[in-house]
Amino acid sequence: MSPARARRAPRRAPAALPAGARYDFHSHTFLTDGSAAATDMWRQAEVLGHRALAVTDHLMMEDPAPLLERLRQERVPFEGCRMAALIGVEISMLPPARIADAARAARRAGAEVIVVHGETTAEPVYPGTNRAAIVSGEVDVLAHPGLLSLRDAELAKAHGVALEISPRRGHSLSNGRVAAQALRAGASLVVDSDAHAPDQLVPFETARRIAEGAGVPPGALARVLSDGPREIVRRCRGRSS
Ligand SMILES: [Zn+2]
Ligand SMILES: [Zn+2]
Repeated sequence: MSPARARRAPRRAPAALPAGARYDFHSHTFLTDGSAAATDMWRQAEVLGHRALAVTDHLMMEDPAPLLERLRQERVPFEGCRMAALIGVEISMLPPARIADAARAARRAGAEVIVVHGETTAEPVYPGTNRAAIVSGEVDVLAHPGLLSLRDAELAKAHGVALEISPRRGHSLSNGRVAAQALRAGASLVVDSDAHAPDQLVPFETARRIAEGAGVPPGALARVLSDGPREIVRRCRGRSS
């Protein structure tokens, strides 16, 4: 581009992004396959300046009550702090027909955030998991949905399910497709960590780069990184009162 043309290029104001407004709806502890306690995860998130971290340990067909009761006790020190310490589950590796019942059981047991382990290309997740999660009426975030169809992205919009961009190795391979389908359908996106240890939590600036790398345009970053997540936190906190 010539210097003259460059001077004529319209200047765009940078997207209004409150620095450090980090929200993360997906992480694990040693209660399932993580390596640290929930208190360690929340404390590290607090140090990183997170506004919210949900601990969402894996749930299959077992009773969700003991897991959620333990998380409820572990978060007592974080009550009243600026960061929302949310408790929930990641429903993982169930046949699609069982997902809605498992989600309802988790909700009854006090899950504020329900994540479903979506159809990542990195693992043999049952086909139909994405759709079953989206239409269950109980799921907040569909994690790493892999080769997400446009129809499922449209249904995610209709059902208010956020679609996850993942920094996790393997799951991250389809981030570009997930972002493209979500943006096309008008569905919500979130950038989670899926952290299994405190040092895997993702700071705000890294989350921003991951979102941009997945193809989220500058004008949509505030919606993906802060405005949309803030709405989800409000909804989730409403469930615990
Ligand atoms: Zn997962
Ligand atoms: Zn996970």
